[in-house]
Amino acid sequence: MTYRIGQGIDIHRFDAGRPLVLCGVHLDAGPGLAGHSDADVVLHAVTDAILGAIGAGDIGEHFPPSDPRWKDAASRAFVDRALELAREQGFAIANCDVTILGERPRLAPYKTALQTALAAILGVDRNRVGLKATTAERMGWIGRGEGLAALAIVLLEAISTEGGARG
Ligand code: MG
Repeated sequence: MTYRIGQGIDIHRFDAGRPLVLCGVHLDAGPGLAGHSDADVVLHAVTDAILGAIGAGDIGEHFPPSDPRWKDAASRAFVDRALELAREQGFAIANCDVTILGERPRLAPYKTALQTALAAILGVDRNRVGLKATTAERMGWIGRGEGLAALAIVLLEAISTEGGARG
């Protein structure tokens, strides 16, 4: 099997007392998000998408909120671990597409920075990462500005083992 696909969805409510961290970037806009870790809703969705693609459970199993190790943790650690598990199964990122859903803050000015940051975390060129933002047209809980949601799809491709460079 050459390819694996996975999806991830994450939702966090706003907490004005915390910084807003998306794709590992601390935005100079808020409000922030509530959560045990840094509440990086994008990296959580991406982590779940990677884990989903390799049938390796979900982020809550690997990084339980009850574990004090992950208190205020930078969520990049979750993506790094998911990538490591994928590598152990012989897979690497082919591409990743993310949509952030929220009414505020306005993310348009940050999209390029977020795309670049996510590509760096995933270790791929920027044209293999989609980073989009949309609102809910003021409908429902997202529309009332109560929090952010992120949806991620990841395609993994088999790592070439020619030359035996990867163990
Ligand atoms: Mg989360």
